[in-house]
Amino acid sequence: MAKFPLQPGSTIGILGGGQLGRMLAMAGARLGFDIAILTPEDDAPASRVAARTIRAAYDDPAGLEALAQGCDVVTFEFENVPATAVERLIELGAEVAPSARALAIAQDRFEEKSFLNAAGAPTVAFAEVNGRDDLSRALKHLGAPLLLKTRRGGYDGKGQAWVMRPRDADTAMKSLGGRPCIAEAPADFRRELAIIAARGREGEIALYPLTESHHENGVLRRTSAPINAPPRAVAEAERIAATLLAALGYVGVIGIELFERDDGRLLVNEFAPRVHNTGHWTLDGCEVDQFEQHIRAIAGWPLGATARRGEIEMRNLIGEEADDWRDILAEPDMSLHLYGKLESRPGRKMGHVTRVLPARAE
Ligand code: AMP
Repeated sequence: MAKFPLQPGSTIGILGGGQLGRMLAMAGARLGFDIAILTPEDDAPASRVAARTIRAAYDDPAGLEALAQGCDVVTFEFENVPATAVERLIELGAEVAPSARALAIAQDRFEEKSFLNAAGAPTVAFAEVNGRDDLSRALKHLGAPLLLKTRRGGYDGKGQAWVMRPRDADTAMKSLGGRPCIAEAPADFRRELAIIAARGREGEIALYPLTESHHENGVLRRTSAPINAPPRAVAEAERIAATLLAALGYVGVIGIELFERDDGRLLVNEFAPRVHNTGHWTLDGCEVDQFEQHIRAIAGWPLGATARRGEIEMRNLIGEEADDWRDILAEPDMSLHLYGKLESRPGRKMGHVTRVLPARAE
């Protein structure tokens, strides 16, 4: 059984080898931990900065056994790792954080929204849609338009279809392959916000400043702060984050995506039980960034300060935008982060760049 706080030199395991795993591994190494990655990919961005890589499918029994035996605590860097892999790790005696429960809830949009509402975090009205009859009922109760989303596996706007009128219902269901879905009322938001938060093993909580998210085609393009929100909205976002962390008995960093409506009300769109793209700005813009904060939390170390260092803007470098690295380096107030991905593809997140300017008096 692992003892918390972990001693420097302990090993932290990460399921997944993408850029989030890479930035977690770098933060972990800085604090004196060894990082072991389990990934099915060759040349994964994270495995090239980790002490050890177990190259295996997420459900490979031998791979999971090696991870469980070799690590003092195990975490994950994306939420579509099979819940059975996490359950197996726990059976093998591994300490896993965040919990299997947080992961399972976040993997299913219907469970997630039901959980959010029960915990006191408001969302759009929604309904479970397992077939055509359910969708007719949802249209009757919630009206049109509705946004149909697959319950599982969707990300970056994938697995979604608008049902503008009742007669679009069949086409929308077909376009999502007839999979179990959730139907959501339109959020009618004026902007999208995000809050990154963390909870430690003693139940202590750290909240990052609220940021604005700018999406294009369902993919995050930019994060900015400050956001010029009324104190009431900031307090509500913080209340939602603290409520969720407590309700989940959470350990680690969580990313919460919010809609801000015209009347100033906040609704939760979803949460990610991991470090999140809307928190990348913290690497340059905060005292302790989200990656270090996650490592601290799961290791049972004290959480760090979350104050914003200035006016920040984080921009994702997508596809060939990362080829502009020379121009970015020439800008004195820009910080460049490249993920070491060997192949650039349109739409692929290749890196990000952060600009931090001295804070103006607000
Ligand atoms: P998601 O996959 O749930 O993160 O949604 C991706 C994007 O779709 C969000 O960032 C919003 O821009 C948009 N979206 C999601 N849910 C709704 C909704 N109920 N109403 C309007 N837009 C939505």
